[in-house]
Amino acid sequence: MENKYNHAAIEKKWQDVWETTKPDKVEVDHDKKKYYVLEMFPYPSGKLHMGHVRNYSIGDVVARFKRMQGYNVLHPMGFDSFGLPAENAAIQHNIPPAKWTWDNIHEMEVQLRQLGLSYDWDREVQTCDPSYYKWMQYIFIQFYKKGLAYKKETQVNWCPGCQTVLANEQVVDGKCERCKSLVGKKTLSQWCFKITDYADKLLEDLDNLPGWPEKVKIMQKNWIGKSTGAEVTFEIQGYDKGLTVFTTRPDTLFGTTFMVLAPEHPYIDDLIPEGSEYRAAVEKYIDDAQHMTEIERGAANKPKTGVFTGRYAVDPVNGAIVPIYIADYVMMGYGTGAIMQEQVEEAMKWLRENDEATIKFYKEQAFMVEAPNFVDLVVTETEPGVKGDTATNVTKTATVETGTDVQVPIFIEEGERIQIDTRTGEYLGRSK
Ligand SMILES: [Zn+2]
Repeated sequence: MENKYNHAAIEKKWQDVWETTKPDKVEVDHDKKKYYVLEMFPYPSGKLHMGHVRNYSIGDVVARFKRMQGYNVLHPMGFDSFGLPAENAAIQHNIPPAKWTWDNIHEMEVQLRQLGLSYDWDREVQTCDPSYYKWMQYIFIQFYKKGLAYKKETQVNWCPGCQTVLANEQVVDGKCERCKSLVGKKTLSQWCFKITDYADKLLEDLDNLPGWPEKVKIMQKNWIGKSTGAEVTFEIQGYDKGLTVFTTRPDTLFGTTFMVLAPEHPYIDDLIPEGSEYRAAVEKYIDDAQHMTEIERGAANKPKTGVFTGRYAVDPVNGAIVPIYIADYVMMGYGTGAIMQEQVEEAMKWLRENDEATIKFYKEQAFMVEAPNFVDLVVTETEPGVKGDTATNVTKTATVETGTDVQVPIFIEEGERIQIDTRTGEYLGRSK
C-alpha cells in the first residue's frame, strides 16, 4: 500500500467508476418521497472559480444528506449559456460565440466532474442548445398567441463602445462594466411580457406566504407595481399641451404642491427651450440621470434630487399654481412619466401607518416644496421636563406620533403639538 495519498490516481479511479455506474442517476419512484435540489446554473464564462466550488459544494451536501434520509433526490446540472456576455466575449476574442460558449461548457463539465459533485449528468441542459431553447420558443409563441407578448419602444442601457445593449447589472457607476465607456440610454423596440395581467393574482398570493418578512412582501408589492388610479390633466401655464399624470390618489388633488416629470418626458425640450435660464441646469440633470440605471434612480437609500423647470401647472380642481420639477426617481415607463406630489402634511398623515424609511423619503422630497415646510405632530413620549424651565437651549429627546425622535426644548410635554421642519426633521416650535 502506498503511504502517500495519490489524488490523481485515486480520484481518476473513482471518477471512472461513477461515470459507468451512475450512482446519482434518478428515476421516477412513487414509493419514495421526492426532493429537488437545484443550484443556480453557472454561466459558462471560462473556468470554474472558488465561488462556484463553494456554491455547488453546499448544494451537494444537501443532496447527499437527503439521499441518506431516503429521499428520491433530483439533483441536475446545466449551463445558463445564452446572452450578451457570450456575444461580447466573442467580439473581444474574435471567435464565434458558439465556439467560445461550448469550449467553456466542456471545460467546466470536466471540472465539475473532478469535484465529484453528485449530479445526474443524464439530465444536464444547456440553454444555448436547440433541444432546450425550442421549449422557450414554444412558450413564447403561446404567450404571443394569448396577447401576453407584445412589442414596445422602451429605453435600454446602451454602450457606445461595445455597440450593444447592457443589462442593469452590467452598468457600474454609469459606466460599461467591460469597456468603461459612459453608458447612455437608447430607445429601441423591445419584446415585453404583459405581466401586469397577473398583478392581481401575484398581489393576492403574497398573502399565502406566511413567515415572510413584511419588508420583503412590501418590496414585492412595489415591484409588482399594481396601481389603480386615474389620469388627470393639468394645464401648463404658457404651453398649449396639458400635462397628464397618473395618480393612485385622485382625492389628494386638492393638496397638490408640485409636479414632477421623468427626465425622459417628451415635453421637456419644449418646456425649457434654448435660452431659458433653467436650460443648463436641466440639461446637466438629465445627462446625469441617463448615466444611471432605473434601479439606481429608484433606490430607497439614494437621496432624492430634482431640478426646477421654471414652469408652473394649474391644479384642475382648485386652480392652484404649482411648480413643475424634473426628478430621476420618476420613470417614463411607469404611468405617464409625470406625477403630482400632494401636500407633505397629507402625506405625513398617511405615512403614520408606514415605516420610517418612507417618512425619510418624503422628508427628502420636501426639499422641492416651497410650502409648507413644516408639519404639525403630536409628542407621544418624552423624557420628564423641568417645571418652570423655559430655557430653549436645554434639550431632551421626544418621540412624535410618526415614531421619529426629535430634540425638543426641555419644557415640551407629552400630548403637545409641535412643528417639525420637513427638510431637516428638526424642532421648529410649539404649534400655534
Ligand atoms: Zn462597453
